Amino acid sequence: MTDLTEAARIVAGWPRVLTRLLDTHVPGPDGRCRGCTSQVSLPPRWPCALTEFARLAAATPGHRPGHPS
Ligand SMILES: [Zn+2]
Repeated sequence: MTDLTEAARIVAGWPRVLTRLLDTHVPGPDGRCRGCTSQVSLPPRWPCALTEFARLAAATPGHRPGHPS
């Protein structure tokens, strides 16, 4: 298991964090991510790395309350 999938598994147990990521990182009219703002460079084209990560987390079975591993 890579660090990324481990992180995705953890975030999968935090649905509010996951929802916020998916709500924030959406494409703007120019096709760039509106959640990845920077003072010094253009935001990345959407889907950005965080969107890909949130999708991975959403597809990853995480810890759920009442279902201890
Ligand atoms: Zn983004």
